[in-house]
Amino acid sequence: MALHTPDQLTERLKRRSVDIRWRGQALDDVTEHPAFAPTLHSWGTWLYQAAFDPETAPTMVAGPDLNGEQSHVFWHMASTVEDLEQNLAAARLLAERSPLAGYASIGRDELQALLIVTHRLDADRGTGYHQRVRDYVSRFQREQLMTAAAVTDVKGDRAKRPAEQDDPDLYLHVVERTAEGIVVRGAKAHTSGSVGAEELIVIPTRAMRADDADYAVSFAVPVDAPGLTLIARAFNAGSDSAWEAPISSHDELAETLTIFDDVFVPYERVFLLGEWEYAGEVANTFASVNRQGYLGTESGKLRLFIGAAQRIAELNGVAGVGHIREKIAQLIRLERSIWALGVAASRESSCTPAGYQVPDPVLTNAGKHICMEGHFMATRLLLEIAGGAVTTAPLAEDLLADDIRPLVEKYLRGADPEQTWERLKVLKLIRDLAASEYSGYWNTEIIHGSGSPAAEILAMYRETDLGACKRLVERALSGREAIMPPAGAAA
Ligand SMILES: Cc1cc2nc3c(=O)[nH]c(=O)nc-3n(C[C@H](O)[C@H](O)[C@H](O)COP(=O)(O)OP(=O)(O)OC[C@H]3O[C@@H](n4cnc5c(N)ncnc54)[C@H](O)[C@@H]3O)c2cc1C
Repeated sequence: MALHTPDQLTERLKRRSVDIRWRGQALDDVTEHPAFAPTLHSWGTWLYQAAFDPETAPTMVAGPDLNGEQSHVFWHMASTVEDLEQNLAAARLLAERSPLAGYASIGRDELQALLIVTHRLDADRGTGYHQRVRDYVSRFQREQLMTAAAVTDVKGDRAKRPAEQDDPDLYLHVVERTAEGIVVRGAKAHTSGSVGAEELIVIPTRAMRADDADYAVSFAVPVDAPGLTLIARAFNAGSDSAWEAPISSHDELAETLTIFDDVFVPYERVFLLGEWEYAGEVANTFASVNRQGYLGTESGKLRLFIGAAQRIAELNGVAGVGHIREKIAQLIRLERSIWALGVAASRESSCTPAGYQVPDPVLTNAGKHICMEGHFMATRLLLEIAGGAVTTAPLAEDLLADDIRPLVEKYLRGADPEQTWERLKVLKLIRDLAASEYSGYWNTEIIHGSGSPAAEILAMYRETDLGACKRLVERALSGREAIMPPAGAAA
């Protein structure tokens, strides 16, 4: 049985010797630092614990993995439609309790893309990358390694490709090849969860051309490899109070600016090296796999929104009002549509020659795009239903002070005077979900996380069979012949 406990992860994280900077200081042990506790819960404790929790374990345990063992679903590589459906359900289940945990499969998603693309690359070129990726994935599954995804380069002038930049280090690149491995330099931005990771999985962020060959590189590296520096950000802005911040006190995703200052990577960990023609395929396959999980996460988060909307409507005494019901129905419509796209993307997935399943890219990207549009509508609807006390309710210390408490109970009640404290708790939950620094984080995450909306539009356009749609037009132009046999033809 390959399942690891949260404690095993924490022990391993303590053994790392990572160069993490936080507010100008180097941190000795990130596992003890309060700023990163929410990240280590959502992308650590909860993620690992969910495989043991009786309510979630049936969805979280998958198998067999490459070692023939049961594995946690977020370490499992999908090779069937059912695997993809399980992945979607797992993201939703994790997100219902800790929304950002739904995204924690990102390193696995990169490895799945590498398994698929290196299989084709080896067949085309006679290279030996696929077995290296498989060997790494076996270890990743056996040791249940916590990984973070280093995909997005810092990119400098966005209008220029990697080799065209004034400074060659604005995209990560190979600066030296030795007999044992490669040396890489550059920086990846927005590396979610790296403060609590053991390994970084590095892939190219975009398609490349021949003169970008040194930038077409992929590998896995321990986060404490010499030359790696992680400059961390976390918002945990005093929100460790479960009263003021019932979700974000345990759910966050710290990112790092991840700097590679001549980092050595041995060849057995290198999965792409100069084959620029395959860089775009790695990035796009990763995006299709990763964005499917987004749909599960968004569904879980929206179910929280729906529950909060219904509960505050009851506590405010407006649950029977027509426009409130209509708004809650709109939230339900949104959640169900996103879920349906996730299921459809799984059912209409395809099995690659490598034996791994890729969700339908058009359905996945359409779903991800609707997640973005829907998030802002859902936030507005939830705030509209809840009322202004979401942001104006006094803080916990005042609410609980002896001389103020009776005033709170008299003036901040809703429909039922016995439920004043329940009402305040739900208002604080809604503040956290829709009007806090945490919710501001989601506003950016839902737009840019897993790639910008423009990338989704491009993928939908590229992957749709427009020829088939044009043939429908040709047929429509033939008038009644489109549906009737031509005059004189045998029936
Ligand atoms: C909360 C969060 C978590 C993230 N987690 C991770 C992670 O774990 N790992 C990881 O690798 N990345 C992660 N990302 C990065 C994410 O994939 C990027 O933010 C996204 O790809 C956009 O890149 P950018 O932020 O550099 O924006 P930019 O590339 O600067 O884009 C800004 C705008 O310019 C447009 N643009 C940029 N270049 C061009 C061009 N050449 N032509 C036309 N339009 C262009 C974009 O479409 C966009 O509208 C995360 C991002 C966020 C916000």
